[in-house]
Amino acid sequence: MGLNVNIDELKKLAMGEVDRLRDELVSLSTMIHDNPELRYQEFKACDWITDLLERNGFAVERGICELPTAFRATYGSGRPAVAFLAEYDALPKIGHACGHNIIAASSAGAGLASKLVVDRTGGSVVVLGTPAEEGGVGKARMIKNRAFDQIDAAMLVHPGRRNAATIEALACIGLDVEFFGKAAHAASSPHEGINALEAMIQSFNNINSLRQHIRDRARIHGIITNGGEAENVVPSYSSGKFLVRAEDSQYLDSLCIRALHCFEAAAMATGAELKYEWEEARYDPMNSNEPLVELFTENYRILGRSIDPVDPGKGFGSTDMGNVSTVVPAIHPTVSIAEKDVLAHTPEFAAAAASEKGHRGLVDAAKAMAMTAVDVLADTQMMDRVRQYFKKS
Ligand SMILES: [Zn+2]
Ligand SMILES: [Zn+2]
Repeated sequence: MGLNVNIDELKKLAMGEVDRLRDELVSLSTMIHDNPELRYQEFKACDWITDLLERNGFAVERGICELPTAFRATYGSGRPAVAFLAEYDALPKIGHACGHNIIAASSAGAGLASKLVVDRTGGSVVVLGTPAEEGGVGKARMIKNRAFDQIDAAMLVHPGRRNAATIEALACIGLDVEFFGKAAHAASSPHEGINALEAMIQSFNNINSLRQHIRDRARIHGIITNGGEAENVVPSYSSGKFLVRAEDSQYLDSLCIRALHCFEAAAMATGAELKYEWEEARYDPMNSNEPLVELFTENYRILGRSIDPVDPGKGFGSTDMGNVSTVVPAIHPTVSIAEKDVLAHTPEFAAAAASEKGHRGLVDAAKAMAMTAVDVLADTQMMDRVRQYFKKS
């Protein structure tokens, strides 16, 4: 197998399939967009995606990895196995402002379009439903539950402002902080109080002082979630949520210790008691598989999408696809669905995720992923190169 198949012919087949399925994929994307569900609550999205895949001959397992809204849909059997990852969680209040409806529909589309490919090359394609990308680090839980053990390459395409085959993503971990003080009348007996809000404010000031002496790409940022109840009472309780990010996991470790000192110092200065909890799962930096990046870039070119230059001064976020990239060869390209001044996580980006430009992005993302699957499923040597690169990186 793999000898008598013509790669260009297979790619044409896959592209034709995506075109044939266009209406169905656009309506799937639009339905998910119009019914935003928060992390780990994506029940409707899961139903719609798995129903479509099952109707089209995929073997579907729902609720895998002890996660009710995770699924695995498989076509074909054995290795190599290429996975298209579907994200489908939305953001509080602003819906699909990260455009995960497009990730869901394009990965489902890539899976469906790859059926004809797998029939000819052997191996399998898997559409993996991965819940809770936004703050849940859902893929870390799926890795722990061995969802990637039988996968040879994994990919998803995230909508954005530019076409890219790679992204940089930072290591990131969440920190929940609470200060416990002592309430007192704020005017008649402030000397008897311990001010938990002041401890939180001091923490922010300490972090701001630290910030000028950390590496460029590192980030520490947060919000106060409780800063007291009444202005005439010394706040006895305050709480906040923070994120610490860095280029690599080692620097993140050292930054976490320095960040924690900021809170401990504030506790000491104010007399408030500090309680904190690091989130169990952290985001790993993205390690893009270079051979897959090259293949994907070429497939974008075939589709008439050229890679856009990186905006100078642009910062980086974090994604749980980074975690996936530590266990299997993986890429996380982006597809342009919005103008350059439209930022992700805004209502304007949510609108773009259901626009005609968004639909075109979803179609090309599905095609480019299916074509990249052709490259590795039909060419054993290419699959080996992908594996070799992963081993070395
Ligand atoms: Zn997001
Ligand atoms: Zn996102």
